[in-house]
Amino acid sequence: MSRPQNLAILGATGSIGRNTLDVAERHPQRFRIFALSANERMDELADLCLRHRPRYAVVARSAQADALRKRLESGFTEILTGSQGLERIATHAETDCVMAAIVGAAGLEPTIAAARAGKKVLLANKEALVMAGPIFMEAVRAHGATLLPIDSEHNAVFQCLPDSFSGELRGHGVRRVLLTASGGPFRDVPLERLHSVTPDEACAHPNWVMGRKISVDSATMMNKALEIIEAHWLFGATHEQIEVVVHPQSVVHSMVEYADGSVIAQLGNPDMRTPIAHALAYPERIEAGVGSLDLFRIGRLDFIAPDFARFPALKLGYRALKEGGTSPATLNAANEIAVKAFLDRRLPFLAITALIEAVMNESPARALAGLDDVIDADLDARRHAEILVGKMSLQR
Ligand code: NAD
Ligand code: MG
Repeated sequence: MSRPQNLAILGATGSIGRNTLDVAERHPQRFRIFALSANERMDELADLCLRHRPRYAVVARSAQADALRKRLESGFTEILTGSQGLERIATHAETDCVMAAIVGAAGLEPTIAAARAGKKVLLANKEALVMAGPIFMEAVRAHGATLLPIDSEHNAVFQCLPDSFSGELRGHGVRRVLLTASGGPFRDVPLERLHSVTPDEACAHPNWVMGRKISVDSATMMNKALEIIEAHWLFGATHEQIEVVVHPQSVVHSMVEYADGSVIAQLGNPDMRTPIAHALAYPERIEAGVGSLDLFRIGRLDFIAPDFARFPALKLGYRALKEGGTSPATLNAANEIAVKAFLDRRLPFLAITALIEAVMNESPARALAGLDDVIDADLDARRHAEILVGKMSLQR
């Protein structure tokens, strides 16, 4: 084998970041930790730097950089700050592969920069693709980047598509993409209880341990709404071709149905190290630390139609996809503000989706000419959403 691939992990202290390090560490001949970034939890970042000795670490602010420098007295790791630091590691000539695992819109610019630098980009940060779909995909095409999905559903779809897949379902005999969804912690909770559920209840996902933002997104099913849009851009699937299937066991990670009636599924334990290892080593297969699937213990697999009344976020996902232009960026930004307000106990759970719908109603979709339009729509939606959070919390 040639020299190890240099990995830059954006969002190294998060759930995806740590799982990436866990897989990479099992294969020191294949992967070298070249750069790590984190926004908070500096003690954890310092421990990761001492363990993996990356060439670069990126933090948000200069005070954090000073504190980190003191902890890493050897000077082996150069410490950079802010968006310039993220861009530097995402585009560095020696970076081979970028794991985009920052949560939310904050990941957009470094992830697009990695695509424009023609890197191998492992995409966990679905929000970046949702916001800027056409611009993101054009950057991948124009600069010869390799884009591999980390989201378990999209990684599963990718595995179920033929090797010849070219980024467009057309011509591959695909009828539908079936995205599975666990239904989150509130799938069966009586509707009247949903008014008063707490952030900790929303973050207690039945099958996956994830960061708090995506956990709330799973509870509202906004996560699936974002994933519908993500599937559109990754696979060239129309909104009619994308169907959501509630599957409480989270064993079938998604499916592809072909014109001849065949349905190909990817199964596995719900462990993000599987899609991470798949993308890291693609097209080879490597050990991920994930145990064998015990079908006898699981016993049965259930599939249920999604309840659009209980989870109106799903409708908003399809709506944003159909509207196109700035609409997905508006949806995403309003969601980020609403989720933060819910986690800060400034907004009740059921108000999250209501607020997003109100912001979408106030912000008609505009065409996207470039990244500035995405950023403007994002800022506008955040402003609207903050005003609504203020009003809605006064009404409580
Ligand atoms: P997390 O909250 O656990 O970690 C987020 C990471 O991003 C942390 O390292 C944090 O320091 C960093 N970060 C946060 N805000 C930042 C900012 N403003 N600037 C720079 N860095 C910042 O989140 P996660 O669960 O690991 O999710 C990361 C991404 O992966 C999300 O887009 C999520 O939707 C996606 N994803 C996660 C999972 C999962 O199982 N956790 C599954 C599929 C997709
Ligand atoms: Mg997912």
